[in-house]
Amino acid sequence: MTETKSTCPYCGVGCGVVIESQAGQVTGVRGDPDHPANFGRLCTKGSTLHLTASPAITRQARLLQPMQRGQRGEAPQPVSWDAALDHAADTIAGIVARHGPDAVGFYVSGQLLTEDYYVFNKLAKGLLGTNNIDTNSRLCMSSAVAGYKLTLGADAPPACYEDVDHAGCLFIAGSNAAWAHPVLYRRIEEARARRPQMKVIVVDPRRTDTAELADLVLPLQPGTDVMLFNGLLHIMLWEGWTDAGWIERHTTGFDALKGTVRDCTPDLVAQVCGLRKEDLLTAARWFATSDATLSLYCQGLNQSSSGTAKNAALINLHLATGQIGKPGAGPFSLTGQPNAMGGREVGGLANLLSAHRDLANPQHRAEVAALWGVPAVPDKPGRTAVEMFQAAADGEIRALWIACTNPAQSMPDQATVRRALERAEFVVVQEAFATTSTCAFADLLLPATTWGEKDGTVTNSERRISRVRPALPAAGAARHDWRIGVDFAHRLEARMGRTATLFPYETPESVWNEHRESTRGRDLDITGLSYALLEAAPRQWPFADGATAGRARLYEDGRFATADGKARFVDTVYKPLAEPRESRYPFSLTTGRLRDQWHGMSRTGTLGRLFGHVPEPVVQMHPQDMARRQLRDGDLVYVTSKRGSIVVPAQADTGLGLSQAFIAMHWGEEYLSGCSSTGTPLAGINALTTSAYCPQSKQPELKHAAVKILKA
Ligand code: SF4
Repeated sequence: MTETKSTCPYCGVGCGVVIESQAGQVTGVRGDPDHPANFGRLCTKGSTLHLTASPAITRQARLLQPMQRGQRGEAPQPVSWDAALDHAADTIAGIVARHGPDAVGFYVSGQLLTEDYYVFNKLAKGLLGTNNIDTNSRLCMSSAVAGYKLTLGADAPPACYEDVDHAGCLFIAGSNAAWAHPVLYRRIEEARARRPQMKVIVVDPRRTDTAELADLVLPLQPGTDVMLFNGLLHIMLWEGWTDAGWIERHTTGFDALKGTVRDCTPDLVAQVCGLRKEDLLTAARWFATSDATLSLYCQGLNQSSSGTAKNAALINLHLATGQIGKPGAGPFSLTGQPNAMGGREVGGLANLLSAHRDLANPQHRAEVAALWGVPAVPDKPGRTAVEMFQAAADGEIRALWIACTNPAQSMPDQATVRRALERAEFVVVQEAFATTSTCAFADLLLPATTWGEKDGTVTNSERRISRVRPALPAAGAARHDWRIGVDFAHRLEARMGRTATLFPYETPESVWNEHRESTRGRDLDITGLSYALLEAAPRQWPFADGATAGRARLYEDGRFATADGKARFVDTVYKPLAEPRESRYPFSLTTGRLRDQWHGMSRTGTLGRLFGHVPEPVVQMHPQDMARRQLRDGDLVYVTSKRGSIVVPAQADTGLGLSQAFIAMHWGEEYLSGCSSTGTPLAGINALTTSAYCPQSKQPELKHAAVKILKA
């Protein structure tokens, strides 16, 4: 038996795994006892990874060879890699010649490895000359990015998992960590058992398993987080619990914010958020006066039309109380995807450039152009996820290249997304699994490697970079994602008349070495971090040339990543939801994860045992709302928003407030049938969700839609 150390591909905890393999087959998986993210633990998803790599599932679910569709509506036929890539290069070169580079859009994924991400970002911005590359991380973390940059000056989570062991108060907001980040939650449970005096506050409209160990639960009305955080700051100011000296030394902008939070009185906050005033007082006291307060937050803050303001308002609390830059303290965003962080590091979003540089900054564009050896990086902002599919639906983007993600299930407002996929002249889908909804729209399907086969690096929530190593050869004719990008780029370069390649890579390490050089002098400087060092152990960034260790937590010297070294308060003004519930749509539909499923189920959905926890989709509602509609558990209901309607069984759940409903995000068209508002067949939960997004981060409000619920 061979043992190969690698990383779990499911979530941002980034657990280390040991893959056991024999005769070219994965035979088992166990937690890596030496990995600092999990110390040998795995959750139900991680511990069943080996089963998803079985030969039977590979045969049934994997895309194993390039496939090309002659015409829309015809079945795709197998083609050689050369034919597939030549066809892609000819078609995209033709579209660029006729319509310019901005007629092409790349939609990639937080599940790509950093090396994959780097190649595709350079391909779009450096070779093709378009910033139209965005990622499903836009749906996951872009509000956290914007929040960190506005307040602390850089997209760098300042805390680490070990801080859970030092915190006197844990403030968990918009995160069901018990299900979405289970191994981290085990660490929280252990910390709590060792130190029962540690206070835990859970902020969530829905009472989840995460609330089980909470000392205080704040079941706020959906979307009212900014009002809550401003109200807590109001109380802290009133009670004298802010740290005036720290604010004076380390921050700017507090006076403007004070003017805003003055109006957020406990009476107003209690009324808007639907909370008790005494609970607000308790939360403010515990947060401000504990020795160290650590905030853990996730999609409840990010997937919002005020996602940036929610992130900034929470960070404001840390700055006002000096709860940052010391063990056990700080704001700590939990990344949903295994490598949303790595994608941000290489600048793989429409508004970013390599190594946390900004596209809008001319100096940054010049630096990246010099690094890549191209005359310039285009200055026109790229289309973000929602904008990209809207542009394709409007006929402005004519070619879509989709890698390692399933927008025909996971994007909000599916009616628009599917119109985009149908209207685009050329859709390339680069995928490991043949079963995703998006594959049905592809003109060209390119088989990619996946967990167990891939080779490269990922960065987890705490800035820790781990190696992903292959235990198996590629299945069928699958190629690594970075390799597909390079092979395509070489063909495109030939058609563009370039003689010297911008993509001289033969190994993922050669991509990594260029990426790490691009970080020299930046906040995430990893110039000292070679593959050889990563072979020995995963490391946190920054890790500059000459360093002997990464940095566990940031800003311990009180200097932030801004020009003057001071953190900035953001004047966060509460704004209501993009689509508040109203008389015709009287329910707030919220969405979230299940414990044993991941994303659109392309991998977890292959295992029957992972349906044991929750076997089928349901819409959960408060028992009183069920009774009022004469519904019993299992009754089928129509859940209808302004965009579409699905049919689903109802289920009573006392964890929800009145007029609230919940459906897990994973269920796609195989499980939930329905139609769009115009009657077109449409399915999955995102038939209902809205693509309204935060104006700063452009992250859509996947967490909330106004719906009506009627017996079917
Ligand atoms: Fe994988 Fe996340 Fe579970 Fe760890 S907690 S085993 S990274 S899914």
